[in-house]
Amino acid sequence: MKRWLMISNRLPVSKDASTGEIKLSSGGLVSALGGIRNGIPKLWIGLEPREAGDPSPALTGKEGEIEYRGVPVDVGLYDRYYNGISNDVLWPLFHYEGGLVHFNGEDWDAYVRVNELLADAIAAEARDDESVWIHDFHLFLLPAMLRKRKPSLHIGFFLHIPFPSSEIFRQLPVREEILQGIMGADLIGFHDYSYLRHFCNALHAVLGVGSDMLSAEYEGRRITLGAFPVSIDTKSFHNRSREPAVEKILRRYRQSFRGLKLILGIDRLDYIKGLRLKLQSFRELLARNPELVGEVQLLQIAVPTRQDVPVYIQLKEEVERLVGEINGRFGRADYAPVLYIYNSIPFEELLALYRLADCLLVSSRRDGMNLVALEFIAAQSPTKPGVVVLSEFTGASATLSHALTINPWDVEKTSEVLKKALSLSDAERREMHQPMLKYLMQYDATDWAASFMKSLEKTRTVPIPER
Ligand code: UDP
Repeated sequence: MKRWLMISNRLPVSKDASTGEIKLSSGGLVSALGGIRNGIPKLWIGLEPREAGDPSPALTGKEGEIEYRGVPVDVGLYDRYYNGISNDVLWPLFHYEGGLVHFNGEDWDAYVRVNELLADAIAAEARDDESVWIHDFHLFLLPAMLRKRKPSLHIGFFLHIPFPSSEIFRQLPVREEILQGIMGADLIGFHDYSYLRHFCNALHAVLGVGSDMLSAEYEGRRITLGAFPVSIDTKSFHNRSREPAVEKILRRYRQSFRGLKLILGIDRLDYIKGLRLKLQSFRELLARNPELVGEVQLLQIAVPTRQDVPVYIQLKEEVERLVGEINGRFGRADYAPVLYIYNSIPFEELLALYRLADCLLVSSRRDGMNLVALEFIAAQSPTKPGVVVLSEFTGASATLSHALTINPWDVEKTSEVLKKALSLSDAERREMHQPMLKYLMQYDATDWAASFMKSLEKTRTVPIPER
């Protein structure tokens, strides 16, 4: 039977601390695929960095319908591909932070080699005519490499981050190589039409290839293009946020927050998340509305990420300085305006915080989607839901039509929107929440994965007839 092959940078596996057993994790993409119960066997392939001379065999296993297999790669090579190019070039540039890009040719060679390593492993594994879904910016070159090795495959590529304006993209020294790599696919998907439009503009500007937002002709093939906004496992978030363990934490929180109006922030401590802008907006809210001092609190969970990279260390220092400044200026003996936690939190606590908060504040400078906003909506109580204040520079702002959108750079305006969010009646909150919950219930992560795979199955690259 023909399989679906999923390819991503790393395998989504976790090791059970007590038994040592290796299992697929239950998050995002895995549960999305697990939800497609069509009997089609699925194989997941991802990289497995390891020290030179490590003789242990590659990870393999099976969870439900999904089988997984690791492809070993030397840690040094992986570091150049992953940190050197993926995180220090592609991540900042695709999020419009061109000033943070550090490109060097040796790292690029590693990026090419790692994509080749995967292409070889997949070509050896895949049978003719199977469907391969390649994920994200680590693997831009893989679609073309795979097509060259095995032209009979049906190759889909999905980008989980924004595709930037072609004016930004054109700065990349390897702009041709990246577009040529992606164009090896039969189907190319983005979260949002704006990302797709930027991609089409880049195709034209860099490769001189025309497209109409639906398809593009390239090297005698017609390639399908589309927007497939990712979703979440809505029912599971909704149901799990009502489980007794979460209710218990919620009761405890309600006691300790004593009726304070709560603005919640859940972000990795990454420069794309706009944490400085968020804190500045909150400071503005308190400065302009003294009656809110003592009444409102910002609870910011900052999840550590890339902790040894200088730009992230500096960001952490600046965020913490701002937190200190706001608390010093507006705090009282029994009230700290900002509660800041530099740590990840257990899942039940996250759900309890979603339920507790009056408002979620997402200030991202750029963000491919922002799943936190979707999860927050799924967890809310339908009778007294919290309000989502959402940066217009997130993919989520295109799908969550009833959120209060902000330009996070406009600190004054954001503080006004926050004030409005905190003063909405329960009926107004419900009016905003209901259509968004309905949308997420009707279109969940499994629908997202199924719609991409359905398009891929339909997309048998048709050679373009001679004119
Ligand atoms: N999250 C987590 N641990 C935490 C806080 C959040 O695993 O302590 C999860 C959260 O539930 C969400 C993800 O991290 O699924 C963040 O996804 P998002 O798209 O918002 O941002 P990303 O970090 O992928 O840029």
